[in-house]
Amino acid sequence: MPDCLFCRIIAGEIPSKKVYEDEQCYAFYDIDPQAPTHFLVVPKAHIQSAAAITAENEAVVGHIFTVIARLAGELGFAGRGYRVVSNIGEQGQQTVPHLHFHVLAGRDMTWPPG
Ligand code: 5GP
Ligand code: ZN
Repeated sequence: MPDCLFCRIIAGEIPSKKVYEDEQCYAFYDIDPQAPTHFLVVPKAHIQSAAAITAENEAVVGHIFTVIARLAGELGFAGRGYRVVSNIGEQGQQTVPHLHFHVLAGRDMTWPPG
């Protein structure tokens, strides 16, 4: 999608600090980190949010969680734990309308979230 910020990051039109990439997904560090480690994992295909997941595109979500589990091990935070978050729509505080999973690690998280 030409006007989508994350589609432009995936295409390399806007620079980002890459964590991981394969045919289906791209992971990069958040520009405004909320934890010592904070990166985003996005499908390369444009999907508006987790509310737009259907039987046709659901496989990429499982793939992304496999990638996150692997990266957690490789980056060394799997043992202590971490948080995966996907904000959806206005009240969910989604600011970029391209499905993304925040991966936050390196500090104690709080609950409930704000
Ligand atoms: P949301 O608020 O939609 O759940 O998350 C969007 C995230 O994208 C925010 O955490 C924000 O800091 C991050 N973000 C926004 N613009 C950019 C950018 O240009 N580059 C990177 N790396 N992250 C961005
Ligand atoms: Zn997009």
